[in-house]
Amino acid sequence: MSGCVALIVAAGRGLRAGGKLPKQYRTLAGEPILRRTVQAFCRHARISQVRVVIHGDDRPLYEAATAGLDVLAPVEGGATRQESVRRGLESLAELAPQHVLIHDGARPFTTPAVIDRVLDGLSLAPGVIAALPVTDTIKRAGRGEALIQETVERRDLWRAQTPQAFRFAEILAAHRTATSAADLTDDAAVATQAGLKVMMVPGGEENVKITTEDDLQRAIRTLDAELELRVGQGVDVHRFGPGEAVQLCGVRIPHGQGLEGHSDADVGLHAATDAILGALGAGDIGHHFPPSDPRWRGADSALFLRHAARLVTEAGGRVVHVDITLICEAPRIGPHREAMVRRLAEILGLAPSACSVKATTTERLGFTGRGEGMAAQAVATIRVPARP
Ligand code: MG
Repeated sequence: MSGCVALIVAAGRGLRAGGKLPKQYRTLAGEPILRRTVQAFCRHARISQVRVVIHGDDRPLYEAATAGLDVLAPVEGGATRQESVRRGLESLAELAPQHVLIHDGARPFTTPAVIDRVLDGLSLAPGVIAALPVTDTIKRAGRGEALIQETVERRDLWRAQTPQAFRFAEILAAHRTATSAADLTDDAAVATQAGLKVMMVPGGEENVKITTEDDLQRAIRTLDAELELRVGQGVDVHRFGPGEAVQLCGVRIPHGQGLEGHSDADVGLHAATDAILGALGAGDIGHHFPPSDPRWRGADSALFLRHAARLVTEAGGRVVHVDITLICEAPRIGPHREAMVRRLAEILGLAPSACSVKATTTERLGFTGRGEGMAAQAVATIRVPARP
């Protein structure tokens, strides 16, 4: 007998939020929504185990989303939410937990305090749900119409959220006898239909269910507010040598000379890579890709830049913007600038408006002025979780 198991329901198709993926698998600040949801329960000291109910088609998505997390093997859901929950509960019967906490996979912002309040309530009632009193004035319209029929008394109205916690044996019995004719959209409805008393405790305004594209965008803004904004800079220099083209910001430009270097000697992408690594506090390009390593001989520098951006994603952040200045007398950059911006945007997965390439000469002064080599400077802006 284990104490309290969390059952996360993530079997819905949920394509309403747009995009090709069910919403629980879409990404928020570099992490699938479902991973964030599951972690909230895995990290809670009073939850002994976590199981997710998934759609059969989503198994690879699920495996990727929960990689490395300590969860029970998933079970496949049914055609309706109610059926999915029932299958999830049946699968837990052999564990015979005392309590079960049922939660929506697309509700990733549940706080430990909400989980505590719901669990605390179980000493007073066999069922407890997170809910919030309705504060907007509620109108009833005719079916499919926008004309108001009446104003509904809101004093006794609440908005039900999840988690919803129950004594396990009682909610399992309620689901086994529930009529599937009625469309019961939460487990409190299944419980009360079976005659169980269900109590409400305060949920949280932040504990939203991500349903529409608007919800998703709002969630991204919520998370962004929790991420700190950082700026990094990078500088690179390469010497001109024999050759017939230079590689700059991922674009090959015919030129009377080439640039010398171990890789493709793309000063623009090297400076941008160092700027991102700098913002992340993750060393420099030479640390990640030592010039002594034969693997990087002649390498496409897009690989270095992509690696730096991936480190940001793995830290739970994202690259926001990159600005590169190329410093040389020749070749002329202007005719290639747009292609460079497009390539940069493609490598980083950013909008072209978030990528900038500029050029300057040094008025024939210094090594760039004498045409001995090229230099580049870059600035990168990233958002990452603030960590002590
Ligand atoms: Mg370099």
